[in-house]
Amino acid sequence: MVDLKGQYQQIKERVDASIQEVIETTAFINGPEVHQFQKELEEYLGVKHVIPCANGTDALQIAMMGLGLKPGDEVITADFTFAATVEVIALLQLTPVLVDVDPINFNIDIDAIKKAITPKTKAIVPVHLFGLTANMDEIMELAEQHNLFVIEDNAQGIGADYISKDGSRKKSGTIGHVASTSFFPSKNLGCYGDGGAIFTNDDDLAYSIRGIVNHGMYERYHHDVVGVNSRLDSIQAAVLRAKLPHLDEYNAARRTAARKYTKALSGIDTIITPSGCTLDALCKNDVCNCHVYHQYTLRIINADRDGLVKHLNENGIPCGVYYPIPLHSQKAYKDARYNEADFPVTNQLVKEVISLPMHTELDDEQIEFITTTLINFIAK
Ligand SMILES: *Cc1c(COP(=O)(O)O)cnc(C)c1O
Repeated sequence: MVDLKGQYQQIKERVDASIQEVIETTAFINGPEVHQFQKELEEYLGVKHVIPCANGTDALQIAMMGLGLKPGDEVITADFTFAATVEVIALLQLTPVLVDVDPINFNIDIDAIKKAITPKTKAIVPVHLFGLTANMDEIMELAEQHNLFVIEDNAQGIGADYISKDGSRKKSGTIGHVASTSFFPSKNLGCYGDGGAIFTNDDDLAYSIRGIVNHGMYERYHHDVVGVNSRLDSIQAAVLRAKLPHLDEYNAARRTAARKYTKALSGIDTIITPSGCTLDALCKNDVCNCHVYHQYTLRIINADRDGLVKHLNENGIPCGVYYPIPLHSQKAYKDARYNEADFPVTNQLVKEVISLPMHTELDDEQIEFITTTLINFIAK
């Protein structure tokens, strides 16, 4: 699914030297690399504060702790996402409220959010699924109307642009009150182990979060709140510093691969290719940076999706089903309040989606082989 080795070969010299330097200086934890990376990411994103932490799941949890959410508060999020999102809501004893997604962009459905808001609702967690930013204009508008926090789960969307209705352009993860991301190796900006970060433009929230990641400590050995231990280590920061200057180029390579997939696979009745932009009308051109294709995900309509997965695998093509089970049907997150009729889209998507190999090193020959193998199976 991903080719991390090929990408490493391109930046090997810098990565090796930076890692070596961390080892020589023994500044393994909170070393200068971490601080520098934080500054560089703040600048890249155009956000006031980046707080590095140990992984993307921690980042989400810490963001929620920083906002002071309390047990019983309802938090609305998408039914069709990776479990980390709902997991931390439940861990903090907040009440997860899963809602359906949009069939075109796979992101949280705005009408479903509206229906789910109650007097207990405190936050919305949009997930920028597969690398396409959720409809932040409408989500922020709803949040303002109902006095809710917006926590962007940007684990899959780092580097994506979001174009608002007024034409202004921002980076995903800088629009809500706070955002989380993951530097898991296969993410668009991945390190060589675990890593994550929280972003916010709110000075007070940033202060609070910097203490929470460090055992609730704002002054040495004074623990003002219950915190956690969640750090990005210096070696991972060194890797990320080597990769960040290439992030736009990496995302452009993913987009180029996506365009080639879409070109080869459009016009086939049984295949729906992914929608590329937040605002198609404004953005239908080659410089469009709305979708950073963490995954390139097709819908296979009225055809044998599982057979296709098997066929591709048998031909040496890795592919994945993200995600095969709706969160509301998972044992850990089942709840009597949910009604199957409220999740028509997610229930359908889990049967139809397939994600093709997607990384920065895909070449024309591979794309050609993948798409022909796929079409041959579908045409049977
Ligand atoms: C990867 C991912 C996470 C969790 O990140 P980790 O670094 O693996 O903890 C959270 N949410 C989404 C949507 C993800 O894809």
